[in-house]
Amino acid sequence: ESVVVFLEPDAGPAGPAAGAGSTVGTEPAVVLRVADPRLPALLVTDQGATRGDGVFETMTAVAPAGPDGAAAGHRVRKEDSHLARLASSAEALQIPVPPAEAWRRAAAAGLRSFAQGSPGVDAVVKLVATRGPEGTPGGGHYVRGAADVGSDGELAETTEPGQLLPPHLTGTYWVLVSPVSAGLADARERGLRVLLLDRGFDSGAAERAPWLLMGTKSLSYAVNMAALRFAASQGADDVIFTSSDGKVLEGPTSTVLLARRVPRPDGTEGVELVTPLRSAGILAGTSQGTIFAAAAQAGWALGYGPLEPADLFDADAVWLVSSVRLVAPVTHLDGEELPQDAGLTEQLNAFLAEDLAPGDHGPNG
Ligand code: PLP
Repeated sequence: ESVVVFLEPDAGPAGPAAGAGSTVGTEPAVVLRVADPRLPALLVTDQGATRGDGVFETMTAVAPAGPDGAAAGHRVRKEDSHLARLASSAEALQIPVPPAEAWRRAAAAGLRSFAQGSPGVDAVVKLVATRGPEGTPGGGHYVRGAADVGSDGELAETTEPGQLLPPHLTGTYWVLVSPVSAGLADARERGLRVLLLDRGFDSGAAERAPWLLMGTKSLSYAVNMAALRFAASQGADDVIFTSSDGKVLEGPTSTVLLARRVPRPDGTEGVELVTPLRSAGILAGTSQGTIFAAAAQAGWALGYGPLEPADLFDADAVWLVSSVRLVAPVTHLDGEELPQDAGLTEQLNAFLAEDLAPGDHGPNG
């Protein structure tokens, strides 16, 4: 049921040739090629596979509701924020990537094809850009062995040539559309037992050592996945990383938020929403950004770390937030029960659903 769309240079009528591309004006164009993700598609020398040398984004897309839905198509949530972060991750790794418009069209083509097979199903849309195959500067990244789906003519419908690309696109680029996993809502309802784990870097490392690529969404997530396995071996569901100097960072695939109820000058009670400081080496969460934008409009106070574990234990509620899992309450931290606030959780999910563009307020903006 999943669909993959490759973004490939349009080699023109002569067919694929390393480093070449047919031109529209003076630029080579990209062709979107829809393929079946169950079939092999990457060269074994692709540096995304051999070194985790690439970047990615995971977005969600809401299926249209109602009888006229199919025509409306899926609505991708926070697409601009994800595309902006993809571009900045790619810049940090110095991997050339297609422009935002090409990714947007690839996602739309993938979602159209996905909706034909799975109508009414919400989707996860993963964008991946790798450095491409080893030893083939300037070319050789054409994907072999992936059968095109759409021998029934569908391919023609989902192939959209004519998008402009810079001539130096030597990486491998694709969009994978799959159904949202059904278990996620359960995990959200149950809440999370979380372990605090040392990430091993101090909170100044990101600024001192940019080659560590902290705060970029690179494909090198083996460490994050190992932390999750460690947590599972201890009976926990998830992880909050701390720096070696004891600051709260982020989850392996999520941003940390906490809330404190605070007295307002007029005697009523307000809410302060706080997230760790991004400069400590964490990813700028798009969910955190959009939640903060809505919370600011609702008159909530916003705060940015530095936070320490004691702040989590003292908070009125703690959550892990991400694009796929949305807002999940933390029920236990290192085995200790944390206070819950179902009303605030609901409010944060409502803020997220507003889908506002993140403001540029605050040090994480
Ligand atoms: N931090 C890390 C390390 C992540 O991998 C993710 C998402 O996967 C997040 C935070 C949350 O980011 P977003 O809200 O943009 O999904």
